[in-house]
Amino acid sequence: MAIPFIDLSSQYQQHQAKIDAAIHKVLAHGQYIMGPEVKELESQLAEYVGAKHCLACSSGTDALVIPLMAKRLGTGDAVFTSPFTFFASAESISLTGATPVFVDIDPDSYNMDPASLEQKIKETLEAGKLTPRGIIPVDLFGIAADYDVINDIAKKYNLFVLEDAAQAFGAAYKDRRAGGLAELGATSFYPAKPLGCYGDGGAIFSNNDDTLETMISLRVHGQATSGDKYDNVRIGLNGRMDTIQAAILLEKLKIYDQEIERRNQVASEYTHRLKDLVKTPVLPDGHGSVWAQYSIQHPKRETIRTALSEQGIPTAVFYPKPIHLSTAYKDLNHGMGDFPVAEAAAQQIFSLPMHSYLETSQVKSICDSIEAAITNHS
Ligand SMILES: *Cc1c(COP(=O)(O)O)cnc(C)c1O
Repeated sequence: MAIPFIDLSSQYQQHQAKIDAAIHKVLAHGQYIMGPEVKELESQLAEYVGAKHCLACSSGTDALVIPLMAKRLGTGDAVFTSPFTFFASAESISLTGATPVFVDIDPDSYNMDPASLEQKIKETLEAGKLTPRGIIPVDLFGIAADYDVINDIAKKYNLFVLEDAAQAFGAAYKDRRAGGLAELGATSFYPAKPLGCYGDGGAIFSNNDDTLETMISLRVHGQATSGDKYDNVRIGLNGRMDTIQAAILLEKLKIYDQEIERRNQVASEYTHRLKDLVKTPVLPDGHGSVWAQYSIQHPKRETIRTALSEQGIPTAVFYPKPIHLSTAYKDLNHGMGDFPVAEAAAQQIFSLPMHSYLETSQVKSICDSIEAAITNHS
């Protein structure tokens, strides 16, 4: 039997009665937009990550765009981010008119390297063309970036930090949780993320009150937050979360801790078997992972992937092309060699099936196949 890369159907089957009941409750009360489940979800999510405020919204991408709009970014502004991430981390910056300035990653955590960040800020200031405004560190594959160091750098240069926690909702960082590690945070509930709904969804976190009212207004077409709600006071977007998605998430949040525990078991089973065969993930001290992906590196990536695929074992490559080399950013005039750590990872990295419904016997057979592929081709 083929092994799924992510197993949403087993999850649904095991929790079907509760999820169906939650959806039907929304159908019965009829408040499909901004119903009571949305408010309840916002309060539970804020508490979960230890953030002061949470705003549920339509996607992880909008959860990045809305805070950036609230910061009034525009042409000539620079926001620092990783080139080794999903496209939306950089795209959200460009949508506001600002320019993404890429910062190379750490070879072990795959997250923004703080030393390179400070270097890039200095270079940008010296060049004098763009005004540094903010930083979007990405919590890749389920592991938070190094926020203690990044937040200090941000303070030194008077920049805001917007955490892209789309792959790491709730991941442990010291005694805190991903999503709530910076002034602002964004996460995604796209179905394949560690905590997913059954469509698009996302959430914004804020640890202060500065931009809250503006973000509430931006989420609904820039509508006034007090007084005449038919008066639009700024240009916003339709960025709300559907009530049905909130109801689904409230049910899935109840089982999230258990699922993360199982994902961690799967990850240790993989690492135990694979650590001498491939480059396995490294958890920096003080970090926990929610394992959005279990990503490994090997120079014979394509040989191994082909062998696994012939045995019904799916793999995926995140990310084959770092963002600075994408066609959309050709005007930034980047080339091979600009971000060598990200470029090297892109050549060798691939991800194995990862979800909390993987059986130990399946993990074993995936590892057997990887071992056989490497032995047969060396
Ligand atoms: C998935 C993802 C997003 C975007 O989330 P959507 O809900 O798909 O819009 C942003 N950043 C990262 C790192 C992601 O993985």
